[in-house]
Amino acid sequence: MIDPSRCLSALTQRGGVIPAELARAMGNRIYGCDTCQEVCPQNANISPISPDFAQDIFPGATPELIPLIELTVKDFREHVRSSSIGWIRRARIRRNAAIAAGNMKCQQAMPSLTDMLEDENPVLREHAAIALREIDCWRSCHLY
Ligand code: SF4
Repeated sequence: MIDPSRCLSALTQRGGVIPAELARAMGNRIYGCDTCQEVCPQNANISPISPDFAQDIFPGATPELIPLIELTVKDFREHVRSSSIGWIRRARIRRNAAIAAGNMKCQQAMPSLTDMLEDENPVLREHAAIALREIDCWRSCHLY
């Protein structure tokens, strides 16, 4: 049985605050989820494509998190809006990147997440705070 309300692909595309348990399950997904493809028996004998190859065919297939957290209106308009991910709009891309940074315990993203705490969008402020807490907790646990 599949509960579509928990589908990670759908979560990356829907708006609003993502509940903590589901946000953790998103891992580092920014848009969509290919796990269906990976586990499908029909695909069992197909080799996965390498990230380098994916990048050649689909520029931006493996993007850096920090530029996505900081994605400006100008960059969104010039580089993202006309792509397949553009329809989910800038705020959801930034929210998903913040969630991914928290899940990946990405300390380098802390300054960008701290800036996001001042964003006019309350969803982004909340996810920035959650991500910072996750990274900080992880860091404290690994200092000793
Ligand atoms: S594998 Fe991914 S895309 Fe497929 S149903 Fe599950 S969460 Fe959704």
